[in-house]
Amino acid sequence: MPYQAEYIWVDGHQPTPMLRSKTKILDNSVKTPPIWGFDGSSTEQATGDRSDCMLLPVFSCPDPLRGGKNILVLCEVRLAQTGEPHPTNTRAKCAETAKKYSAHQMIFGIEQEYTMMRTNGRPYGFPETEGEPGPQGPYYCGVGAGRVMGREIIEEHTWACIEAGLMIEGTNAEVMPGQWEFQIGAADALTVSDHLMVGRWLLERIAEDHDVVISLAAKPQKGDWNGAGAHTNFSTKAMRSSYEAIEAACESLSKRVDLHVKNYGHDIESRLTGKHETAPYNKFSYGVSNRGASVRIPWQVARDRKGYAEDRRPNANCDPYVVTQLLLDAVCSNEKTPVKAKSTAKKPAGKKATKKAKKK
Ligand code: ADP
Ligand code: MN
Ligand code: MN
Ligand code: MN
Repeated sequence: MPYQAEYIWVDGHQPTPMLRSKTKILDNSVKTPPIWGFDGSSTEQATGDRSDCMLLPVFSCPDPLRGGKNILVLCEVRLAQTGEPHPTNTRAKCAETAKKYSAHQMIFGIEQEYTMMRTNGRPYGFPETEGEPGPQGPYYCGVGAGRVMGREIIEEHTWACIEAGLMIEGTNAEVMPGQWEFQIGAADALTVSDHLMVGRWLLERIAEDHDVVISLAAKPQKGDWNGAGAHTNFSTKAMRSSYEAIEAACESLSKRVDLHVKNYGHDIESRLTGKHETAPYNKFSYGVSNRGASVRIPWQVARDRKGYAEDRRPNANCDPYVVTQLLLDAVCSNEKTPVKAKSTAKKPAGKKATKKAKKK
């Protein structure tokens, strides 16, 4: 029997790109999803006269919604004429940088926050037509009616991620009512970003069935309400064994503040104000346990003198390929390249020598 492959890609919408998908029916005998295409003039990725864009499958997993043999297929957008990355394709550059610095073994964990909205544009945790709920306080990790909204969507989404085989690590209700988080990681830049993209698609697709809109807006509600971020936790091999390397990484980030903030998602200035557990976007700081710093070093990391750091600045609407690429480049270009794990010493001659030694 034929099966369905849902091809997913990132479009060219500005200021924040959106996810798109369409379905291809594959014959039972087809094992790997083939290259496909779409009309780029309808996704802000091409003009009408040269409208064809190429979909190059880069990651696929079981489709937990359709079940059976059906799959989800995440794609890079490529130029139909040459096969080169499309200008909106940020994954290709991330892949290049990740390869360049592979010896540093950098891994990431991303905390994706988001806000549920009604189709009338009001937050899902707010009364349907007017007014605001009680102030922030009881909602974060809350339980009980009136404190927690939308849990049925969270449950469905979490199971879907698990069944798809994504590296989902946990979920929690956030500070503003109807605002939630899921975490993906820890893995290399491409894996964490691919899984996050499929996780975002599943979330929007599931919420659609509940007539709920998922907003990744940095500041979905003006006033005394938290914004939504995508804290990006990161470590290199060196950071996982030395506190000095963690401090050095923070220092490296302090030298590229403008570049990073400019590329961490649309409307970041509205979110990184210095209030609501953020640091001002134009003032870089790092500190142990400090949720008011740009970069936080978790207390256990300071205690153990090794581990990772958390860049708290990326927005919920950030592009994970861009964020991980920038972190890779900033941290690894200033870190000593680790020596390869003694590959020369493991040559057959060496092995023979140890064998002989053992026989003795
Ligand atoms: P928070 O206290 O900031 O809410 P979370 O529990 O939501 O923290 O997320 C912690 C994140 O840190 C996870 O995504 C996890 O993968 C990531 N993480 C843990 N250890 C490492 C590490 N060594 N390198 C990179 N990321 C890590
Ligand atoms: Mn978190
Ligand atoms: Mn959070
Ligand atoms: Mn965090």
